[in-house]
Amino acid sequence: MSIHNNGTFTFLATTDISARTKGRAISTKDFEKGASVGWVPANLGIGPLGHIVDGIPYDATGDIRLVADADATYEIAGIPEIPTFSLSFANLINTDGTPWESCARNFLKEAVDELRDRHGLVMTAAFEHEFTERHAKEATHPFSFASFVDGEPVGSALFNVLENAGVNPECWLPEYAPYQYELTVKPTDPVTAADRAILVRDIVRTVFKAYDREVTFSPVPVASEGGSGVHVHYGLYGTDGEVVAFDPDGPGRMSRIASQFNAGLVKYAAPMTCLFAPLTVSYERLKPHNWSVAQAFCGEQNREALVRICPTNEADGRTPDKQFHFEFRGGDIGANPWILMGMIIRAGMAGIEENLDPVPVVTGDDYSELESQDNENLPASLKEALDRFETNEVVRSWFSDAWVETFLKVKRDEIQHLKDKSIVEQCEVYANVY
Ligand code: GLU
Ligand code: MG
Repeated sequence: MSIHNNGTFTFLATTDISARTKGRAISTKDFEKGASVGWVPANLGIGPLGHIVDGIPYDATGDIRLVADADATYEIAGIPEIPTFSLSFANLINTDGTPWESCARNFLKEAVDELRDRHGLVMTAAFEHEFTERHAKEATHPFSFASFVDGEPVGSALFNVLENAGVNPECWLPEYAPYQYELTVKPTDPVTAADRAILVRDIVRTVFKAYDREVTFSPVPVASEGGSGVHVHYGLYGTDGEVVAFDPDGPGRMSRIASQFNAGLVKYAAPMTCLFAPLTVSYERLKPHNWSVAQAFCGEQNREALVRICPTNEADGRTPDKQFHFEFRGGDIGANPWILMGMIIRAGMAGIEENLDPVPVVTGDDYSELESQDNENLPASLKEALDRFETNEVVRSWFSDAWVETFLKVKRDEIQHLKDKSIVEQCEVYANVY
């Protein structure tokens, strides 16, 4: 996609280890292919609470650059009181132009390339975001027309801004929990899908704010109420778009390669949990009966599965094979979308390369027989999740040593800062950040 930049500024954007969008703006008239600005390696060590954590491998020395991906440029227009501007997603490079070892966008790009080169697979992806309005006078009623109308004129403004930016929004609805909404976008390639996820969350917050309304994407905005997830839909195809994941005779209608891919996700779920659920309160969401993820399993018609085999629409003679795809339901807003998407691909590739048995498919809502199987239990706290990640050589090996050390230190610092706060207070802290 190529969209011409307009407005005074073009913001060169990255998203950090805590999924906060960061960067620097340059004059649009200076923007050209390969435009770049300086960046500081130690920025990787800034956690969600806003300070550089002690003891990380990056310090006051060193320089890297944010280099714009001109093909990932979006014009943001139509937000009340905010002048039109452009935003260009940027990769982090060393000053000699090589990718920086801890660049999250490059982590995803490499995973996409390896999936194609080693396995002849091309992925499509789309992120689904849930979020809740704060300080609203009236709770929404799930899925109701009345709450859809109450969401106006913000809903229309939001959809228009995203549509005009080329983000391809798909569906907008009042979700199940009080004050909760959901916005989905159409599928595309994984890097664009993750870029769009970053735009969606920042544009949603900004458009609501323009109408004096405030939202949070926190996985548990209020301790006693329903959570918000970031679900990732993904499909697997051949390099010419041919069907490779669908087999009407396979378990859950999955082909062997698709079931091995998903077996990798289930196998590595526990050590990956801190990557997709990286906040202390994330673990209040990942519980049974929340329609989030109760355990790591692949399920058909089950919204508590980590990997859900999505239904197909076969009305009026539509065929299921191309539509057939999956949903990774574990993620939340604390996860960097490039890392979340890349992690899904890495784990899936591990499933194929380790020649894993097809993933068991749970049908309906009974997953009790899985309870005794150790590797299907997810960690119950961020602390436990970090330990599982730290001790798993396979999952660690996907990242640079410096990224691993920085991530662990940032997250352990976060636990330390929040340890004397109640769950209610922790929810409040994150609702203010996300
Ligand atoms: N809110 C649920 C979650 O935390 C998801 C509900 C749904 O869309 O199925 O992931
Ligand atoms: Mg939902």
